[in-house]
Amino acid sequence: MRFFRSAIAAAAATLLAGCASPPPADEAEPFVAPPPNEPQASAEPAPPAAPEAPAPKSAAAAPKSKPWQFSYTAGSQAAKADGVLVYLGRPAVADRKTRKAGPSDLDRKATVAPLLQARSKPLVEGRPLRVCLDPGHGGQDAGAASADGRTVEKAIALDIAQRVARMLRKDGVEVTLTRPDNRTFLPLPDRPALARAKKADLFVSIHLNANPSSGPRGVETYVFPARGMESTSYEGKGASDESKQWWPGNGSDWGNVQLGFCIQRRLAAASGLPDRGLRRARFVVVREARMPAALVECGFLTNGRDLAVLRGENGRENIARGIYEGIFDFAWGTMAPGLPAHKPGPPVVEVVPPPASAPQPAPPVERAGSLEFVPSPVAPWTPPKPAVPADDPSDDPATAAARKAALRAAGLIP
Ligand SMILES: [Zn+2]
Repeated sequence: MRFFRSAIAAAAATLLAGCASPPPADEAEPFVAPPPNEPQASAEPAPPAAPEAPAPKSAAAAPKSKPWQFSYTAGSQAAKADGVLVYLGRPAVADRKTRKAGPSDLDRKATVAPLLQARSKPLVEGRPLRVCLDPGHGGQDAGAASADGRTVEKAIALDIAQRVARMLRKDGVEVTLTRPDNRTFLPLPDRPALARAKKADLFVSIHLNANPSSGPRGVETYVFPARGMESTSYEGKGASDESKQWWPGNGSDWGNVQLGFCIQRRLAAASGLPDRGLRRARFVVVREARMPAALVECGFLTNGRDLAVLRGENGRENIARGIYEGIFDFAWGTMAPGLPAHKPGPPVVEVVPPPASAPQPAPPVERAGSLEFVPSPVAPWTPPKPAVPADDPSDDPATAAARKAALRAAGLIP
């Protein structure tokens, strides 16, 4: 994160991955951080049984499911989804008759629907999941820095990315890092291009935040805005040209929201840092990604309390675990509404060890040279249609019932 002094540079900032946008005017109510190491959902009181979704007998052994709660404030973009702060693309609107606040039509389709339609089955089956992690900045570009200049963004981002990579690899995930060390720099558009060349299923860019004031603190996650939706911090009048255009990032609109939400929820819970919400911005790395993508801001280097967490080994490990758990929820289908307390189960990807006689493959070694990445001419690409049937036949009965109740409550199905 960097701040720019001139207005022109500030306008360009939205196009630079990881560069901070000022918080929206309608900042949400104070956030009470959950105790560290405690998943947020389990910190809540036992959920009442959902009237519309009686648990079938077969689910008796499974933990209780709980329909998600959405809350809106008319005129505000700050909403809550299952306890997580989510910035809507447009301010919530009051119903003419009931005066109850609800999402705009655009958010109903582009924010609420994807969350409620989240999958309850693994993203990939029959092969290892492939994840591309992008530690922000690198080389000459150190990114943001602490007030004393001793801690720089590129080093913390790489450390966190390497921790996430270790956790994912233990689950048999194939991980690509966009840079192996702090000397290397990869131009921004080449980072999602590398993810595509490696056939990554998802892309996560890791950054640290900064602010001219030492006050702001906490974690936030950005995803690419849906078409017609402005960046969270947009303060212009009328629709911007960027928002009217279709970008590669829009090909994964639904996956983006789901991935970003999973990460933000887990990251806030695991790190113990304030939840600054799921946000939208047209950063290059998420704009050009052709797979579900998110950009994570893991705290403010310019805030004393955040900095203490970021400088500590445990703090960085907890942050990495939150990102890992968010990726896990998205990729293993453990975030679907109605699924119990969103607890990660054991990984379902089985890693088959090679036969004893075969030579053991060397562990992946990341060398600077391995990043000499030349984007090859890419084949034409058609964006996938985010069409998920309301009644997902792959759901188990308990999840299907809970999902239906949640969709009905959100007004997405009659
Ligand atoms: Zn950054």
